[in-house]
Amino acid sequence: MSFKNKVVLVTGGSRGIGKAMAQAFAQQEATVIVIGRNAEYVHQTATEIVQKGGVAHGYACDVTEVQQVQETVNKLLDKHRCIDILVNNAGITRDNLLFYINDQDWDEVLKVNLKGTFNVTKVVAKAMLKAKQGKIINISSIIGIIGNVGQANYAASKAGIIGFSKSVAKELAARGITVNVVAPGYIRTNMTNKLSQAVQEKILEHIPLKRFGETSDVAGVCLFLASQAADYITGQTIVVDGGLAI
Ligand code: NAP
Repeated sequence: MSFKNKVVLVTGGSRGIGKAMAQAFAQQEATVIVIGRNAEYVHQTATEIVQKGGVAHGYACDVTEVQQVQETVNKLLDKHRCIDILVNNAGITRDNLLFYINDQDWDEVLKVNLKGTFNVTKVVAKAMLKAKQGKIINISSIIGIIGNVGQANYAASKAGIIGFSKSVAKELAARGITVNVVAPGYIRTNMTNKLSQAVQEKILEHIPLKRFGETSDVAGVCLFLASQAADYITGQTIVVDGGLAI
């Protein structure tokens, strides 16, 4: 699978799953653009990729800030021919039980996870429309499908991404652009390392494959969805959860 001459934008590409995706695309010869709020981390990730022989650039950009998103994408389009593949991966959690979720934690999660996906998709899809081609992959979560105690805000944002993606898939299909969703289960990253040992053991009991996922498990599916092999797939959600939701 080669992504030579393809430009891939990965939001939240500086750490965790996004970083693994950026590295995986670079290994397949893509030009990778890494976006995150922390300038040091995005540049560090881009540098690591370049040191391994890949092509990568880092841009500090907050996906919740429409103007920053527009300016960043403008810079990218000036420098590169177009953006061929967009992975909306930036996401946060602010977990709490319903009665303890305050307005700020509700708004922040919805703003980064759902509105951020909307912001970047809107700007990048405009460029893709002109090119009459493009692949958009939005990172949801198994929690957006099955829900979870203590994650009502996160589940709402991730379920929203699925509905959003199906709608946009229908709107953009005639212009050769596909929009799909990847819904990971529990993947070993900072996000899941925050869970206590007891909670981790409890979760493992419910995963038929008896392990947490690796970031590479998610990256592999994104590569497939971004490839020609997935040209006839749009509006779909692929669950990568070791069988948790069976
Ligand atoms: P992570 O390690 O916490 O990384 C999150 C990334 O998003 C970082 O690069 C972060 O960089 C970036 N980010 C956060 N807010 C942002 C903003 N406003 N603008 C731009 N970038 C922002 O998380 P992860 O575990 O890799 O998760 C990645 C995605 O997979 C998320 O959407 C998450 O919901 C989803 N997911 C994860 C799991 C899991 O088990 N880990 C399971 C299901 C779904 P900065 O902080 O520097 O901005």
